[in-house]
Amino acid sequence: MSQFLLIGAGVIGLASAVRLLKEGFTVTVLEKGKAGQESSWAGGGILSPLTPWDYSEPVTQLTDYSTSIYSKWVNELLLSTKIDAEFNECGMLVLPPYDSVKADQWCISHNIKGEISQNSFLNTIHQSILESAIFLPHVAQVRNPRLLTALQSEVIKRGGIIKECCEVRAINLKNKSVVSISTTDGNYSADGYIFTAGAWSREILGKYALNLNISPMQGQMLLYKFEAPPLTSIFLQEELYLIPRLDGHLLIGSTMEDVGFNKQITQAAYNKLYKKASQLLPEIATKPLVNHWAGLRPASPHNIPTIGRHPEISNLFINSGHFRYGVTMAPGSAEILLNEIMEKPQPFDISPYQRGWNQLDKIEFS
Ligand SMILES: Cc1cc2nc3c(=O)[nH]c(=O)nc-3n(C[C@H](O)[C@H](O)[C@H](O)COP(=O)(O)OP(=O)(O)OC[C@H]3O[C@@H](n4cnc5c(N)ncnc54)[C@H](O)[C@@H]3O)c2cc1C
Repeated sequence: MSQFLLIGAGVIGLASAVRLLKEGFTVTVLEKGKAGQESSWAGGGILSPLTPWDYSEPVTQLTDYSTSIYSKWVNELLLSTKIDAEFNECGMLVLPPYDSVKADQWCISHNIKGEISQNSFLNTIHQSILESAIFLPHVAQVRNPRLLTALQSEVIKRGGIIKECCEVRAINLKNKSVVSISTTDGNYSADGYIFTAGAWSREILGKYALNLNISPMQGQMLLYKFEAPPLTSIFLQEELYLIPRLDGHLLIGSTMEDVGFNKQITQAAYNKLYKKASQLLPEIATKPLVNHWAGLRPASPHNIPTIGRHPEISNLFINSGHFRYGVTMAPGSAEILLNEIMEKPQPFDISPYQRGWNQLDKIEFS
């Protein structure tokens, strides 16, 4: 196989495309709308599971692997494209309540002290709350829109094609092999077909999705602007997080709503996020709301994506279902996909990411 068609230009499709192009493959990415405008744009860009101790080994393994190569990955993109994704190892302060027994065990196994050794949070958080908080110093963030622009630029620089406004409608098979795909812009053919269509992946694959359980899960976010960053690190309290960008923007997220393919923002979500965030950071009340949006996460059971070859169709691959952590998992997932295509050794056991085709478990909504 030397030519690949990728379906979907989010962070997963674009990261996979760059990785294939680096290896010398010919790549075209088909995108139904504009590249990099769906879930990958909408996300917060935290490069870690929110409470990492609450996830199973396959999530930990993939996020650990991905974050271990992240700074090199974004640096290479910066050098090549001159677009700075603002990778920033700002750390994450986890405020109570959380499962402290599991958290302590996780910190020990990851060689993280978790203690708050600095007084810099005292201006914002009351001492009594801070005493039972945990600080994860290695958690980083990126600015998703900038990362996506850098990835698009890199795809084009390496000779790849991104075809926008080109919606894939049908998959045409002969002898258990894909021969072409039908789109709103005619038929396209290649040697291999990689589905990176996020929340839409199961719909596009139709009967070839087998038991793949990927569905949309809406998340709403708010964006405020301060003169200077009001926090030095990410704050997390249960489902609420505050992400300070270097230029004073502050992201507040996020909701988790099972409302199908619906990106309508709501006053109820605004009220919920604003109320909780202003309890942590009352100055928000004096700052302008810059934006409020919704995105559709590609939800999958236990937050485990499906990566690799279709069990019955030899030239069909998938890299999808990254749910809450697709931005975090992007470089690692692209690497695993490439190894699978080239039949190269994997950095760890990847069988958990191949079970999705026969998934019987349900998606948890929290
Ligand atoms: C509010 C919110 C906060 C988040 N915060 C974080 C975070 O802090 N950290 C983190 O790691 N992750 C976060 N995520 C999750 C992360 O954004 C997703 O896991 C990730 O973006 C999935 O990437 P993707 O490329 O699979 O999907 P997408 O970005 O949705 O890309 C899929 C693409 O496929 C295209 N497509 C669909 N159907 C077709 C078709 N028929 N033909 C052609 N193209 C098609 C779509 O238009 C889209 O561009 C968050 C998500 C949301 C919504």
